[in-house]
Amino acid sequence: MTGEQILIIGAGIGGLSAAIRLAAAGRRVTVVEQNRAPGGKMSEVRAAGFRWDTGPSVITMRHVFADLFAAAGRRLDDYLTLLPVEPLTRYFYRDGVVLDATSNLADMARQIEAIEPRDVEGYLRFLAYAARLHRITGPVFVYDEPPTPARLLRLPLWDVLRVDPWLTMAQAIRRHVRSPHLRQLLGRFATYVGASPYQAPATLSVIAHVELTGGVWYPQGGVYAIAAALARLAQELGVEIRTGCAAAAIDVRNGRAHGVTLASGEQLAARAVIANVDVTTVYQRLLPDAIATPARRQRLAAVESSCSGYVLLLGVEGEHPQLAHHNIFFPPDYRREFDDLFRRGVPPDDPTVYVAITSKSDPGHAPAGCENWFVLVNAPPLGKEFDWASQEAAYRQRVFATLKRYGLDIEPKVRYAQALTPVDLAASTGAWRGALYGFSSNQALNAFRRPHNRDPHVAGLYYVGGTTHPGGGVPMVTLSGKVAAKMVLADLGG
Ligand SMILES: Cc1cc2nc3c(=O)[nH]c(=O)nc-3n(C[C@H](O)[C@H](O)[C@H](O)COP(=O)(O)OP(=O)(O)OC[C@H]3O[C@@H](n4cnc5c(N)ncnc54)[C@H](O)[C@@H]3O)c2cc1C
Repeated sequence: MTGEQILIIGAGIGGLSAAIRLAAAGRRVTVVEQNRAPGGKMSEVRAAGFRWDTGPSVITMRHVFADLFAAAGRRLDDYLTLLPVEPLTRYFYRDGVVLDATSNLADMARQIEAIEPRDVEGYLRFLAYAARLHRITGPVFVYDEPPTPARLLRLPLWDVLRVDPWLTMAQAIRRHVRSPHLRQLLGRFATYVGASPYQAPATLSVIAHVELTGGVWYPQGGVYAIAAALARLAQELGVEIRTGCAAAAIDVRNGRAHGVTLASGEQLAARAVIANVDVTTVYQRLLPDAIATPARRQRLAAVESSCSGYVLLLGVEGEHPQLAHHNIFFPPDYRREFDDLFRRGVPPDDPTVYVAITSKSDPGHAPAGCENWFVLVNAPPLGKEFDWASQEAAYRQRVFATLKRYGLDIEPKVRYAQALTPVDLAASTGAWRGALYGFSSNQALNAFRRPHNRDPHVAGLYYVGGTTHPGGGVPMVTLSGKVAAKMVLADLGG
């Protein structure tokens, strides 16, 4: 371990990823985490003999995690067992159609043919289009430092024009497939970054490539196994993780970050500070007024947030062989769902309901003859239009009623229930307005507006996590740790 210490505020996946890379480079790293356990939005609950992941459930881009372990001279397989999930997701439509999305092209083509024969060719063209997007945009928008005008100018202009970057995702999908079922399925990938397919740029279709071609992975033991594995690796590399330890302020002198004052009053000196806290929250709560001026606070607070989520952890009696590990129940009017979320600021009247059941892959997650349901519904970021404290119980009934329309009369079978609202998420992780994925990706230029991993006003202050480059989602925040660590090492030298 060399040099003065680097302090990281927050042991979310982004914070742990940065800690691992810095410690692997020989730096002394301390992580302060306000909660009792690392992981941030990736968390778990155990009750009444059941176990649930409470945050992320769909893990893609295995190579991002393998790369992180390799950077520390370890093998991912020695820390985590990532099992491929098939079907990727089972989709239920209100008209009775059921489609198992799969990376097996022959199987997918057979199912599409039964819905709309002309879409088999369109679906293959769409996959090729999404793969092209990944090839063109990945190096600039995902896998390296934030895009600069110079790097953008190096993009192959002809290739960029051929992927129609000015279209919305929904428009690009319409150019490839006709079936409303398939359009809805492909549009849903916008929600992987908390966006609307009717507003988000076509370039976000890259997410479809990542899942439909690259596959979905389930970490044996539960998704939380990823957080546990990263924390274990960090500690093996000498990182000190102090849990139950909230930062109250980032200490700034002469425009430079010098350390952190904890809520306990203890002061920790550092040569560099990395905040794994939403950038807006850092400006509202952790930086001094001279830096976090009213204008800067207001500017950040005014940026549209990604959507949030309403979660029900259900201990369910009985087994449901008609369900897969990942299930989606679609409403007939998808556009209305996003109008509710982003225009009216209320939870959807007729929501898409997502149900993940890890006991299908890990039977120990529920008592014999039972299942552990993680139910997730898109919710608007916190605002004046909806009060979760007084309206949660009624909304829960709406979710049960929606499932009943698919023949799943779950409520009488519920042995245990716990709701997690956007208010809970904001309180437990510092997520601004309870957003799941940081800032909104609903506008084409948002990839350029996202706060940089280096703070522009304070030297020695860096950001990792969903609100900074390259964005939200577990693989993305893991990559943000790589970007921030690279910047810290470049700035500190030696
Ligand atoms: C319900 C839900 C479902 C999701 N589904 C998926 C999915 O299927 N796939 C996917 O890839 N992603 C999903 N996500 C998103 C994914 O979980 C996040 O993008 C990612 O985990 C965020 O990581 P992060 O590095 O930004 O840190 P966060 O998880 O935001 O962690 C920040 C950490 O900082 C700590 N902290 C905050 N303030 C302080 C302070 N003052 N002092 C000390 N510590 C502090 C917090 O306690 C927290 O531990 C989901 C999220 C949720 C909530």
